[in-house]
Amino acid sequence: MLAEAQLLREASLIDGIWIDAADEWISVDDPATGEIVGRVPKLGARETEQAIAAAERAMPAWAAGTAKERAAVLRRWFDLIIAHQDVLGRILTREQGKPLAEAKGEIAYAASFIDWFAEEAKRVYGDVVPPHMADKRIVVLKQPIGVVAAITPWNFPAAMITRKLAPALAAGCATVLKPASQTPFTALALAVLAEKAGLPKGLINVVTGSAAAIGGVLTASKTVRKLTFTGSTEIGAKLYEQCAPTIKKLSLELGGNAPFLVFDDADVDAAVAGAIASKYRNAGQTCVCANRFYVQAGIYDRFVAKLAEAANKLTVGPGMREGTLIGPLIDEAAVAKAQEHVDDAVSKGATIVAGGKPHALGGRYFEPTVLEGVKPAMIILEEETFGPVAPIVRFEDEADAIAQANATDFGLAAYFYARDLGRVWRVAEAIEAGIVGINTGLISTEVAPFGGVKLSGLGREGSRHGIEDYLELKYLCMDIS
Ligand code: ADP
Repeated sequence: MLAEAQLLREASLIDGIWIDAADEWISVDDPATGEIVGRVPKLGARETEQAIAAAERAMPAWAAGTAKERAAVLRRWFDLIIAHQDVLGRILTREQGKPLAEAKGEIAYAASFIDWFAEEAKRVYGDVVPPHMADKRIVVLKQPIGVVAAITPWNFPAAMITRKLAPALAAGCATVLKPASQTPFTALALAVLAEKAGLPKGLINVVTGSAAAIGGVLTASKTVRKLTFTGSTEIGAKLYEQCAPTIKKLSLELGGNAPFLVFDDADVDAAVAGAIASKYRNAGQTCVCANRFYVQAGIYDRFVAKLAEAANKLTVGPGMREGTLIGPLIDEAAVAKAQEHVDDAVSKGATIVAGGKPHALGGRYFEPTVLEGVKPAMIILEEETFGPVAPIVRFEDEADAIAQANATDFGLAAYFYARDLGRVWRVAEAIEAGIVGINTGLISTEVAPFGGVKLSGLGREGSRHGIEDYLELKYLCMDIS
């Protein structure tokens, strides 16, 4: 077992070498206290080139082995992560802020992608195609796409990494990762454990530093054949553009603006429980968090009252404190954004029924908030708040609710509560989103395809589909005459 001091590395990892000298450094702080957790080297273009070259060197031997051999290494990595779940959870909470129980849950979730894709790689079947001419034979191979670059956000410092690296490695690719500068230590700790699991050097390179410099080199490189990114639509679009000259394959998991619909026939207590789970997880800082609630007139008053009551009971505090359910937001700007969304809604006629302002604890804490009487044209319905604020809109009929739910450029997750079977099908089919939670507020799992439509992204992560993005098809046409 490794202790926290051995896992918390103030370094980048390139070609199996921990780079712990740099001219410039990036400080990582604890959102709960503002104290410095540690620092990582601020690397740039030169080191990114080195990391890409290391990945290119490492990949052939790794790809040449069998899926079963790769799975054995990945399985050891999985076991080590599970064995270190507590300490990894603590590192994650310190740099990210989420409650420790949630952080440990994320570690298990992160690990699940490794186990899943290690197994899936054994089932990467090609095709034997009935030929178009009597003297031809056609076979389709699936081969690893090449060096993969991954750029990840701060809200899931562990899961966003394994969701990308596990399918890439399982498929036979080598990787270069740029973790978010707010949360690099979880990524580095995972890399320590990969090394301990026996993953050959150069297959995971972790480059910390300047996003623009590192991103620029990763996107411009002809060696990097795929970029996988989770983050904002704004940066995703920029990376898409930067990848155009080298015609890279892309997976983009971008912003959301998830609607949460509650129909008159819903079980109101279940809907409130689902709303709390979906809205307030990670203090509202997930791309699948419910961002807007639409509640039908017949159930509206009961839902609002019960949601406000439940929100008021959520304990706010440092993630390390036992019993905390809502931790701090990632930074001061996040607090300001939540406040701005509340103020805008109130100035246009919404009413605060719970919370509504920064928490008395000060710092980066914001009260779990519920707003009712929310109407179109309030910013909160149009932009992702990424904070613990639930705005509720009243609606009368189903078609109108669907139209409002779809009146957004985004389409990642959506949720609805209803019991009428016909309605369940109608709404599920009409909602424009990649993921629909029906009578549930929690939808993330490694066994299902995760991803969005419209401006929420490209590609799917997890499930049997998730590995396809790391494979290329090659068709062999043989003349046997
Ligand atoms: P978030 O709001 O989640 O921080 P961002 O899209 O700003 O979303 O950041 C997600 C990831 O993208 C982070 O790792 C960040 O450092 C990185 N990033 C930000 N700007 C760029 C850029 N110009 N090129 C490459 N990566 C970037």
